[in-house]
Amino acid sequence: MGLKNKEHYVWLVCGECDRRHYTTWKKLKAAYKLEKSKYCKFCRKHTTHKEKKL
Ligand SMILES: [Zn+2]
Repeated sequence: MGLKNKEHYVWLVCGECDRRHYTTWKKLKAAYKLEKSKYCKFCRKHTTHKEKKL
């Protein structure tokens, strides 16, 4: 997996409806979990999106 050496794609999954909308880069071995406020078109509002492996 991974197109670059030290990065890989992860999903950003809506925390409310659990749908996958976005992919983003994340560094391998990063100690943190990504959490981003993104617009969810199903919830029709901004929700916290959490990372999930592709
Ligand atoms: Zn949602």
